[in-house]
Amino acid sequence: MSDPITMHGAGESRHLAALARELTYAAEVTRLRSQRRAVLALHRDAGPSEGYDSSGRYTDLPRCCDTCGTHGEYGVPWPCPTARALGATDE
Ligand SMILES: [Zn+2]
Repeated sequence: MSDPITMHGAGESRHLAALARELTYAAEVTRLRSQRRAVLALHRDAGPSEGYDSSGRYTDLPRCCDTCGTHGEYGVPWPCPTARALGATDE
């Protein structure tokens, strides 16, 4: 038969394991948010540049990524694909 002390110990052990998993997940979320911020700091709106628009026409672009392309001459419209993948919007 089950021993109440052992049962309590097993339940507490499961509870502690669940808490440890939650702490691990929380640390992972913190790490991923930090990495997302670091990437978005690189892929930011650096202002106007010449470059190709979505139709392939070389023109003046009002907003371009600071990392993608060559800002000034061959800018990539912001938000660039990397910034969009991370949830940046054209606002
Ligand atoms: Zn970019």
